Amino acid sequence: MQKQPDVVAGVDMGATHIRFCLQTGDGTVIHCEKQRTSEVISSGVVIGVTEMINAQLQHFQVRCRGLMMGFPALVGKDKRTIISTPNLPLQATELFDLAGKLEDALSCPVEFSRDVNLQLSFDVVQHNLQQQQVLAAYLGTGMGFAIWLNGAPWTGAHGVAGELGHIPQGDMTRHCGCGNTGCLETVCSGIALKRWYEQQPREYAIGEIFTVARDEPFVQQLLAHAARAIATSINLFDPDAVILGGGVMDMDAFPRETLIAGIKQHLRRPLPYEAVRFITASSSAFNGAQGAATLARCQFMSSPCAAPAPAVHG
Ligand SMILES: [Zn+2]
Repeated sequence: MQKQPDVVAGVDMGATHIRFCLQTGDGTVIHCEKQRTSEVISSGVVIGVTEMINAQLQHFQVRCRGLMMGFPALVGKDKRTIISTPNLPLQATELFDLAGKLEDALSCPVEFSRDVNLQLSFDVVQHNLQQQQVLAAYLGTGMGFAIWLNGAPWTGAHGVAGELGHIPQGDMTRHCGCGNTGCLETVCSGIALKRWYEQQPREYAIGEIFTVARDEPFVQQLLAHAARAIATSINLFDPDAVILGGGVMDMDAFPRETLIAGIKQHLRRPLPYEAVRFITASSSAFNGAQGAATLARCQFMSSPCAAPAPAVHG
């Protein structure tokens, strides 16, 4: 019997959608798909995810060497424990030893990662920054942030490093989703922007905020908060490059150059001010799943993390 070719799987599990990619050892993406999270997990996470992956392994007649799965959650240093996942409709009983249950069902090693680190891995590989020190700020629903050091996402002593959205530089009278008060995300996040937009009737759509209402004090302050927080991280880490992205920065007419000017205003001179580079994250919805597959390839196939080939959407 002919030996089946090896692949790795990357899964990016969001509250609304699960995205899934398969990559071969040389980084070729042979499959990407999107399904509704509620449908996939209707009979349980293990059954749903296993069926989704096995269907494609069978279709392509390939063998899975490992799965990297990302969550909008804090993931422990062991890359197996989901510490806190307020945004996912999962029961505690399902989360218990989830990695072990998936390993049994799929017969391959499984690791978990925070979703923002998947996006970072994708962007780092895409821009060939693997050997550099990189920070990434993803201003989306929250203020996502991630750190690339020594060729991998840097996760700290407990797996939870990089929580820029939860530094105490927000509105001290407001509670954050994390339980603390005064986090940056109370004034600098998609959630904060939506809350401000919905405070009163407005004659433009929320997607037009940066076209119509860019000079509103709240919007200006949101940009200033983002600039100060990102500048702080740059002064702390002295990175080669900073990736900027996320749903809010992808909105029409987002003033990217104003944000960068605001960041640079606070950078230590002459360095890192003169040297740090700003890079725009690409905004394809499959970046997280592709980043997961790339991490799985580095982790489980000892393959050099070269840039992935263009995705084939199935
Ligand atoms: Zn918080």
